[in-house]
Amino acid sequence: MPLEQPILAPNVYDAEPIPEAARAEIDRLLASGDLFRYTSEGAPVARLEEEFAALIGSRFALAVSSCSAALFLSLKALGLPRGAKVLIPAFTFAAVPSAVVHADCAPVLVEVGADYRIDLDDFRAKLDGAAAVLISHMRGHTSDMDAIMAETEARGLPVIEDAAHSLGTTWGGRNIGTIGRMGCFSFQSYKLVNAGEGGILVTDDPDLIARAVIMSGAYEHNWKKHAVLHAPFARWQNRLPLYNMRMQNLSAAVIRPQLPEIARRVRDGRANHDHVAARLNATGFMQVPQALPREERAPDSIQFNLIGFRDDETRAFQAAAKARGVAVQVFGMSEDNARAFWNWQFLGPVPDLPKTRAMLMRACDCRLPARLTRAETDAIADALIAAAADVKGAKAA
Ligand SMILES: *Cc1c(COP(=O)(O)O)cnc(C)c1O
Repeated sequence: MPLEQPILAPNVYDAEPIPEAARAEIDRLLASGDLFRYTSEGAPVARLEEEFAALIGSRFALAVSSCSAALFLSLKALGLPRGAKVLIPAFTFAAVPSAVVHADCAPVLVEVGADYRIDLDDFRAKLDGAAAVLISHMRGHTSDMDAIMAETEARGLPVIEDAAHSLGTTWGGRNIGTIGRMGCFSFQSYKLVNAGEGGILVTDDPDLIARAVIMSGAYEHNWKKHAVLHAPFARWQNRLPLYNMRMQNLSAAVIRPQLPEIARRVRDGRANHDHVAARLNATGFMQVPQALPREERAPDSIQFNLIGFRDDETRAFQAAAKARGVAVQVFGMSEDNARAFWNWQFLGPVPDLPKTRAMLMRACDCRLPARLTRAETDAIADALIAAAADVKGAKAA
């Protein structure tokens, strides 16, 4: 009898190749040396901004060096005073509180529930005294934007959406990132569109885009090379600092041919995710939080909670998955994890946030790129289910 084949866990780290169409444009840019966005009219960065705004359904877009830069410029564009309180979810990437600190504002951490979304009771309790709200849709899990917009509109508070990992997610049919005053997306390699680094800010507000464009480094009259309303620029010319966070043309040349790929990546990523989620949920030992009713997700990874596991069992599960070739990150368990709020020591003392802490100690994160086949997603699900069975006994399988 042949030996049972070991499960070969798929490689989840390799990126998709950049579409071939990028090559000719990159060659053209290399041949001409025209890499700076403001040298020529109609440069690739300006074209990306027009295309992205149209794709996402915003009036304006500004491409910059990272999503962190986009978040920083959004806060600066709002003209918040030094020390202004900005509400952010306590479950996010360290870059988010960092952008708030960079903008001379004070982050106020809001509890996040076991469903990875903002705890609305804690949110309401912390709104008094806040100057702005920055909603980070962490790993693409969308907080209740209807409730958040109702609360913030009642108080006249601006909302910035950190949609770094939410490109393609919709809320009531609208693209995430277009619901608040400003939305920010990332083109870092682990996001849906990969340029190595890069970000983009979208808004419908002509005054905010004018301010953000100037501060991103549109010195002198370079703002005339943006396809935006030009009237507000006269108001801000020479009156704002230039932080120089521009995108360069090579990045735009890598991003533009990926825009037509987004719909396929979203469709395949969602199918992969929902297939694995159904298998994990069926075990009773792992639970993938439901999307909210108004939310259509665009996942490129899967998050699930271990149900009824102690700390030692959680560690054992991680090790058992690793032994089967699948890397699982438990956000609150790995040392110095940048998504565990107690590691954001640059903030000074952080409050105890028991709900978020409890979630982080059992919330697992596993990459699940859109390019995986059904057999590969099944191999990952098999490994996770077998790892849970290793720890919890045969019941989990
Ligand atoms: C990746 C990410 C960021 C940071 O994006 P950069 O482009 O690397 O600055 C911010 N927020 C979330 C939720 C992210 O996933």
